[in-house]
Amino acid sequence: MIQIQDRKQCCGCSACADACSRKAIRMVPDGMGFPYPAVDRDRCVECGICESICAFHPVTAPAGRAFAVRFPDYLDRSQSGGLGYALMRKAVREGMVVYGAAMGDDFVVRHRRVTTEGGLEPLRLSKYVQSDLTGIPGQVLEDLKAGKKVLFTGTPCQCAGIGALAGSHRDALLLVDITCHGVPGPYVWRDYLKYMEKREGERLTGALFRDPAQGWHGSREKLCFGSRSVLNEDYSYLYFRCFMMRPSCLACPFASLSRPSDLTMADCWGVEKALPGFADDNRGCSLMLVNTDAGSAFAASFDENPRIREVDIDDVLQPNLQAPTVAHKYAPLFERSYVKHGFAYVLRHFGKDSWNHRIASCIVKVKKWL
Ligand SMILES: Cc1cc2nc3c(=O)[nH]c(=O)nc-3n(C[C@H](O)[C@H](O)[C@H](O)COP(=O)(O)OP(=O)(O)OC[C@H]3O[C@@H](n4cnc5c(N)ncnc54)[C@H](O)[C@@H]3O)c2cc1C
Repeated sequence: MIQIQDRKQCCGCSACADACSRKAIRMVPDGMGFPYPAVDRDRCVECGICESICAFHPVTAPAGRAFAVRFPDYLDRSQSGGLGYALMRKAVREGMVVYGAAMGDDFVVRHRRVTTEGGLEPLRLSKYVQSDLTGIPGQVLEDLKAGKKVLFTGTPCQCAGIGALAGSHRDALLLVDITCHGVPGPYVWRDYLKYMEKREGERLTGALFRDPAQGWHGSREKLCFGSRSVLNEDYSYLYFRCFMMRPSCLACPFASLSRPSDLTMADCWGVEKALPGFADDNRGCSLMLVNTDAGSAFAASFDENPRIREVDIDDVLQPNLQAPTVAHKYAPLFERSYVKHGFAYVLRHFGKDSWNHRIASCIVKVKKWL
């Protein structure tokens, strides 16, 4: 029976819960909202399926070819170069079922099943929080068993879990993973939004983790309060300083060029130098890694006219294609403080306006000056 001794060993994909025919596993959130499997010992017959299905291990797939890709018509509503949307759109047009991460009206990020082009809209753009996958692996398996073809997009660990559960149906499943810096806990995102509602004195009506209108290199979140919008960076600051990552992200076995998926999407950071003139306007460019023959066949043709150029991966290699994210040295203290005192407290002590940050910035400036 699955028992998590070390939180770094579980990515929370919930494939083990959906693999259990006795329904003996429930995903239970910890203090940051990260789900972990909890086994009901009265139902469990110790068949071992939950342990054998766990795919949170390195894969030995060889690195494939790399391409810089850009869909000019999609840049305004995509995070990188629109590759994610183009793949999902092509899949739906070919009658496939698509799964991806969407933010609901309650601002909770969950994976959802989509079969129409219109339904793809909420799947676009990056949501920098762990997406809730409850029940999704089982739903994907049902689709596959019913003879449907499925395209699943998600983090590499989510793709690995879904791929393992698909088993003999894997051929009808196309896995597309994102290059991933790590996922923060859903409760932190929830409490950040509550904090902002209190600060602004109004109900939140919309939220974007990274607004494409600020440019591809921009990293501020956009929050809407009726007709008014606020650009803020309290959440993105904590995210990019690596205070609030899931522990397993810090030991991610997929942070390399050996991927558990057919295709990988990423930001093509460094494209301005690698391919001058290709994407110099700060509006976004995707990196596509083609990892399998199935991925290659699927990406061979698009309905639209993308700009595509093969690149040398060494020219656009980025940190999370080489190694897992390293947590901030105060990340454990951040977690304890958040669970005990809440979001406003951690923002005051670890945020960009905290004394800790101001003193650290001064030290850096003085060191540069010396
Ligand atoms: C948590 C997170 C960390 C990332 N870290 C990096 C990084 O270190 N380096 C890098 O190059 N790129 C990273 N990205 C990916 C990048 O920001 C873009 O999402 C990716 O390149 C796709 O952009 P696009 O324009 O092709 O797709 P879009 O058309 O914008 O589609 C977005 C796609 O991402 C998926 N997605 C969005 N949010 C989530 C989520 N929370 N969980 C699972 N899937 C999600 C959607 O299902 C959709 O398929 C990260 C994304 C996320 C969500």
